[in-house]
Amino acid sequence: MAEQHAFKAEIQQLLDILIHSLYTDRDIFLRELVSNASDALSRLQFEQLTNTAIADPEASLYIEIKADDAAGTLTISDSGIGMTRDEMIQNLGVIAHSGAKAFIQAMRERKETNVTDVIGQFGVGFYSAFMVADKIRVVSRSYRPEESAFAWESNGGDTYTVEPAERETRGTDIILTLKDDAKNYLQPWKLREIVRRHSDYVAFPIHIGDDEKPANKQVALWRQESKEITDEQYDDFYKMLTYDFQPPAHRIHMRADVPLQFYALLYVPNTADRAMIMGREPGLKLYARKVMIEERNTDMLPEYLGFVQGVVDSEDLPLAVSRESVQSTRIIANLKKTLTNKVLSELKRLMKNKPEIYRTVFTNFGRLIKQGLVASPDDAKDIQSLLIFRSSNTSGEDQVTLGEYAARMARGQKEIYYVLADDENGAAHSPHLDPFRQRGIEVLYLIDPVDPLMLMGLSEYEGYKVRNVDEADIDLQDVGEKSEAADDAREPVAEVSFLALRQRFAERLGERVSDVRESSTLVGSPARLVSSDTNSARNMFRVNRLLDRDYNLPVKILELNPRHPLIHNLSDMIAAEGANSLIDLIVEQVFETALLQEGIHPDPASMADRLTQIMQAATQRG
Ligand code: ADP
Repeated sequence: MAEQHAFKAEIQQLLDILIHSLYTDRDIFLRELVSNASDALSRLQFEQLTNTAIADPEASLYIEIKADDAAGTLTISDSGIGMTRDEMIQNLGVIAHSGAKAFIQAMRERKETNVTDVIGQFGVGFYSAFMVADKIRVVSRSYRPEESAFAWESNGGDTYTVEPAERETRGTDIILTLKDDAKNYLQPWKLREIVRRHSDYVAFPIHIGDDEKPANKQVALWRQESKEITDEQYDDFYKMLTYDFQPPAHRIHMRADVPLQFYALLYVPNTADRAMIMGREPGLKLYARKVMIEERNTDMLPEYLGFVQGVVDSEDLPLAVSRESVQSTRIIANLKKTLTNKVLSELKRLMKNKPEIYRTVFTNFGRLIKQGLVASPDDAKDIQSLLIFRSSNTSGEDQVTLGEYAARMARGQKEIYYVLADDENGAAHSPHLDPFRQRGIEVLYLIDPVDPLMLMGLSEYEGYKVRNVDEADIDLQDVGEKSEAADDAREPVAEVSFLALRQRFAERLGERVSDVRESSTLVGSPARLVSSDTNSARNMFRVNRLLDRDYNLPVKILELNPRHPLIHNLSDMIAAEGANSLIDLIVEQVFETALLQEGIHPDPASMADRLTQIMQAATQRG
């Protein structure tokens, strides 16, 4: 007796979408089923490496597609890993298929996208067979010798059944009872055409009908000469690998013979949207002697290049990559070095030859790359040359590299300057920039949340110190050309008055500042906060803030601009009516405005009350 089970609700909706999908999308059901068969065979091969208890160890590894005209059925068979009864229920029926939900969502949101592009991405490929079949019967026998065969069956309604079945040998048959309008899939030429188009480099022979000759080439794309491969084939392979339906931003196809023999086909995606490249966790597909030994290997590239997708295939890798083996550790380290260098040099090439594309890549993955400065200091030199920044001198979409920055430094400039801020606007309005602007010195805008972290690995570039514009001891005396016109025309506050002012600030602000003093650099701004310690630890609080950890506000020096009208007024006010409570309000506000301009105010909304009081005082008549 067959037991009856209900599908999860999402699967019902999924089936509805598929059944009503475009006629022209239908061909892909075969690609999906062949790809499942190929996976099942790869997994079997892997078991063979590590496990001796396998049913039918001698059976050859193949995929077969058989049409039965009389019965109107199409059967896709493989001698792969098979499924037990429970696995069938798990894999084909119950599946909490978050994938199904995501797929339904994606189809709703992206009306113009067709099923073909999206289906495999969500791990629901199997169900695409309902586009052409009224009924699907799966007969499968697990590779585990003690397991017997079972059949799963569904007509795409609310339920499916599972019952014991007959199958002599290990493997799976997917038997499709074709819809009336899908009988064209019984024709061998049609099947052959689809296999060639979509499944040509599946590594196992695909036999159609009784044809002895496989319908597919079987040569993995990455093992072919690159001049024999079209852009379209490269892109198709990328799609198949990542389910990202945008073409990649860049591809790297390499083969090496010494010291290690290997092939690699790597891609830089065009999008960082993980939802679009679903399931694409970091990691490369690893093949050893044509057997897929790992789906996502993360030992082949450093973490900061984790966005790179692709395949590595090496004859030199031991089939069972056990981490403990000294030899495999050495080989992997070697491969990693070669691949890393290649990816870095290709990124540099891309940057030079196709700057717009590189900009997109950097927008998407720059954060990861920057982290490499800290995590992989050995590669720091290469990573440094891959960085691009907005700056006080860039316009439009422009970005500047450290190399370009160094090449266009102002006369006498021996350091690289940056300002840390939360966004471009904040950077551009930082009071620290006053003296730099005045002298025509370019300042890099470090506005990415990971930039403070990056700085831990970027204290120097090509011998130039990299310095924060808020450092108290930056001396610009002999740098650039100072434009006098930009100087504040007003006289500074008299020395004694300034002393009183300074004292008032120091008393009021207490431990919140380490010192209050006169600024020799500010031009348009009344005040700024500078750091006295050049220790990179002072950026730690930004890192902690980014990571949502507890942090203390850094204690800085408050610099006041003695020429600024506000400072003039305030100093007059202290002299004339020192008890006026407005003075303290303004002292507080000057300090907090400086915090805000630093992008480090912990709670800007808390200023509202004080600002209202100040405005009230300013608007009072008589
Ligand atoms: P995906 O293949 O993306 O995981 P599918 O819906 O295509 O999603 O398949 C669901 C699962 O069913 C697979 O992950 C696999 O475990 C199982 N499966 C499908 N076809 C086969 C097959 N021919 N042999 C063994 N297992 C299979």
